[in-house]
Amino acid sequence: MNEQKMIPCDHVIAQLWEYLDGELDELRSQEVRQHLERCARCFPEHDFRGAYLKLMRRCSTQQVPVELRRRIFETVLEEEHEAATAARPASGTGILERARFTLRRLLCGD
Ligand SMILES: [Zn+2]
Repeated sequence: MNEQKMIPCDHVIAQLWEYLDGELDELRSQEVRQHLERCARCFPEHDFRGAYLKLMRRCSTQQVPVELRRRIFETVLEEEHEAATAARPASGTGILERARFTLRRLLCGD
């Protein structure tokens, strides 16, 4: 196994949309992929955003502009975060689960 230095988590998170959209060049996308394979903190984030993109593709009939797509996501996540922290102390996956549910309702209308 090669002992490459992992890039920091915040770099991964900052590039995650570009990674998912295939906008990163090969080297950077490889760095992100290697990080995700080993990082328990970033992987759920990647998993969740990936699920969101899939949901959007499945439920939305028209092409949603990238900026709008990211804005919807950030807004929902922020709202869920506030709601979750108001209700009880924050738990990472709890927020993602709630946000997943909200996005589903928003995008698919169920
Ligand atoms: Zn990480």
